[in-house]
Amino acid sequence: MGLLGGEMMWKLVRMLAGRRTALTAEQLEDLRAWLEARGVRSACDDTPRQTKSWAARAGLDTPELGRWLARLGGVCDCEILYNVCGAEPDAAARRE
Ligand SMILES: [Zn+2]
Repeated sequence: MGLLGGEMMWKLVRMLAGRRTALTAEQLEDLRAWLEARGVRSACDDTPRQTKSWAARAGLDTPELGRWLARLGGVCDCEILYNVCGAEPDAAARRE
């Protein structure tokens, strides 16, 4: 169902959105590692809980960050990992 198209679209959206905000490439990489280490691929609870705790540690837990993440399709930790941090979805862990 157009996975490649969707992925390219998100790359474009990320590129455009990245211009006026929020996280640097370095921070995104740090967040990606944080989310992977907490196993959100298989244990996402449909909230951005782990992302918020990362942001709090980094002093970035703001409404602006939440809106930016949501705009990129990241409303929970696993979606943030895939849609915002750009991690490859793990086919085995997908729940659809
Ligand atoms: Zn999720």
